[in-house]
Amino acid sequence: MSITPIIEQCRARLEDPEFGSVRQWKARHPGGKAVGCFPVYTPVEIIHAAGMLPVGLFGGGTTIELANADARFQSFVCSIAKTTLEMGFQARLKPLDGLIFSSICDVARNLSSVVARNFSEFQVEYIHHAQNMTSPAAADYVESEFRRVQRNMEKLSGGAISQEALAASLRTYNRVRGLLRRLYEIRRESPHLISTVELYVLVRSGTLVPPEEHLQELEQVLELLPARQGRPKDRVRVVIESAFCEQPPLDLLQVVEDAGCYIVDDDLLTGWRWFVEDVPEDLPPLRALAESYIRRSVYSSVRHDGPRPRTAGLVEKVRRAGAQAVIFMPAKFCEPALFDYPLFRVALEEAGIPHLVVEFEEKMWTFERTRNELETFVESMLFD
Ligand code: SF4
Repeated sequence: MSITPIIEQCRARLEDPEFGSVRQWKARHPGGKAVGCFPVYTPVEIIHAAGMLPVGLFGGGTTIELANADARFQSFVCSIAKTTLEMGFQARLKPLDGLIFSSICDVARNLSSVVARNFSEFQVEYIHHAQNMTSPAAADYVESEFRRVQRNMEKLSGGAISQEALAASLRTYNRVRGLLRRLYEIRRESPHLISTVELYVLVRSGTLVPPEEHLQELEQVLELLPARQGRPKDRVRVVIESAFCEQPPLDLLQVVEDAGCYIVDDDLLTGWRWFVEDVPEDLPPLRALAESYIRRSVYSSVRHDGPRPRTAGLVEKVRRAGAQAVIFMPAKFCEPALFDYPLFRVALEEAGIPHLVVEFEEKMWTFERTRNELETFVESMLFD
């Protein structure tokens, strides 16, 4: 058996515009509730511990035409905000009962209130993440915020969330994130064994099913991968940066790979892989999550820096991955990504790491110009 049928199944799941896997889960769990998690980071353990299904909510991608959302947002707003709202107007969010947003940017904050105002059928939650990561009170603050989320998830599910259930969910998600880290390591070491398109499909489709089901898929893929045939090719090793919220179309990732790149690290779907190591299992669960948010999470343009700036984090990531270059992939109008670009650029220039900027929109469907730019960049790297 090969991993191809698993990837194909995952791709069908994520390309289903009607959240078919969520509907199936609800059919199997009468009365069960599902909660959409807008990027970037949501403490999904709390939702899972309440017996509900956390669901990745990444906008409508290429599958939706804007008919109503344009009138509620300025023209210079990122696409994911508009298509997420449009999904509400076109009843595509119907399988969801709750929606969680967080303080990643002004757009996400406004989206949260616009959704709440237009769709009273959803319980809408907004998480205020820590602004000061170095304060001794930061972990206390995050813990109290997660406790508030817990109370609201209890209201939505209609039952109390026990410490035991939280601890069990934390262990489950630790296992998922651990296997994802392992897959990222394999791609870093042997990018010819699993492409980024395949890895991305696997990770993203996992946000649409219970973590237990996702675990099985990840375990199967990890078991089958070593038997995969293939030889390393002469390609440029790159890191993709700035695609942490709105997600690039799969075709764009394919174009990057076809242009002669091995993507050896990225920040795609980063919120679902948020911790650099396991969340401690010997602390009270919310405390462990809060401390981990402060001390064990990845650097990000939407997470305030701790003692180490994210510019250093990017350079370190490039070195660790043995990458030769960075491809910045900000979504059009994404302020956190675009505001960080000048800082990252200076850090990369100082470190002597070349980069290319490839701006995208989730509904992008022509890639000719991008393909040419990428091929020129790759050639300049290979024949330098
Ligand atoms: S794509 Fe950027 S601007 Fe838009 S909601 Fe996400 S973080 Fe905010």
